[in-house]
Amino acid sequence: MKKIVSIIFILFVSFMVFSVPSNVEAKTLRQMKEELATAKANLSSNQAKMREAQERVKKYRNEINASTVEIEKCQNEIEEARIKIQELEVEIKEKQKEIDELLRFLQVSKGENVYLEYVFGATSFTDFIYRTAIVEQLSDYNDKLIDEMYDLIEQNKQLQKELEAKIQELEKKIEQLKKDLAKVNLTIDDLYDDQKDLNAEIKAYEVEVKFYEDYGCKLDQEISDCLNVPYANGFVRPTDYGYISSNYGWRSLNLSGSNFHSGIDIALPEGNKVYPSAPGYVAKKVIKSSCGGNMLYIQHSVNGKKYTTVYMHLKSFNVNVGDTVFLTTVIAYSGGGASTRGYDRCTTGAHLHFGMFNGWTSSKSNLINPRDKVNFPAIYNRYYSRW
Ligand SMILES: [Zn+2]
Repeated sequence: MKKIVSIIFILFVSFMVFSVPSNVEAKTLRQMKEELATAKANLSSNQAKMREAQERVKKYRNEINASTVEIEKCQNEIEEARIKIQELEVEIKEKQKEIDELLRFLQVSKGENVYLEYVFGATSFTDFIYRTAIVEQLSDYNDKLIDEMYDLIEQNKQLQKELEAKIQELEKKIEQLKKDLAKVNLTIDDLYDDQKDLNAEIKAYEVEVKFYEDYGCKLDQEISDCLNVPYANGFVRPTDYGYISSNYGWRSLNLSGSNFHSGIDIALPEGNKVYPSAPGYVAKKVIKSSCGGNMLYIQHSVNGKKYTTVYMHLKSFNVNVGDTVFLTTVIAYSGGGASTRGYDRCTTGAHLHFGMFNGWTSSKSNLINPRDKVNFPAIYNRYYSRW
């Protein structure tokens, strides 16, 4: 059981690392608009791929249907051939019987029986000879017919074999098509997840861009220069209580390799208040991403240095992009359990994932260990206050 839990945890962690959006680092409004355009381009390329994949699904389904129909046709033809063979066998038997009778006549006719003329109704000896010749011809003719019928039986048997081989081939084809179909369906699932993330990202960019425009930021002005990020002198814990269920950093796996956890996991029931770790500025909101769920990014200026914190698997938000937040501002409510699991496949239970970056960025390379800045208890220990 522990093994399974740790595997799930590792999967969760690996999703976390790769899902961190990297758009908080935009420095100017112009760059942010460019990133918005890139996200839109990615979305339309995703949509094109989706259409292509859906076309392929249609094509595979049609091919499977066509092959199934063809198999049915082959099976009908096999049945027809079987009936034909049966009929031919009956006919051969009948012809055989006729030949036997004719041969018996010939045997008798070539004997010395004086009543023959009478028996076979010939009116004269000439007539009798004539009749005998006809009988011989008939018998030959029947022999030939039987040979032809045997040939027909052979042909039908051959046809049956060919049809059976064809059915096998078609069944193989269907099997391959079903495999291809399953693959495309997986691709569609991935594309769908990406699409949801891209839509969330685009919406977040649009809110941001609009906010900075309304705020009066110039196109090429550094956004940091145009914002009011409150000054802070340190970081505190983002919830009133909790239990450290996972540390930041590399984790060795039970099975193979290792994986990276991009933050600290604080286990606590859903619906608990989440606060910013330091006063700051709400830079980004990601809504219902397929990995991480609802996420908030907050930019800070602590002792003159820039940082970004991220809060993931949120049940709901309590602030908007552009809000200035203080240590006592409830920014969100925690999730990660039943309420968010429907869309967030990267959570294993109710908890807050808390991550930290150097600078106003969410670039993976800027991740830092939250323990370096926040006084968290050791792993598997609880805390009951934010300080
Ligand atoms: Zn986490």
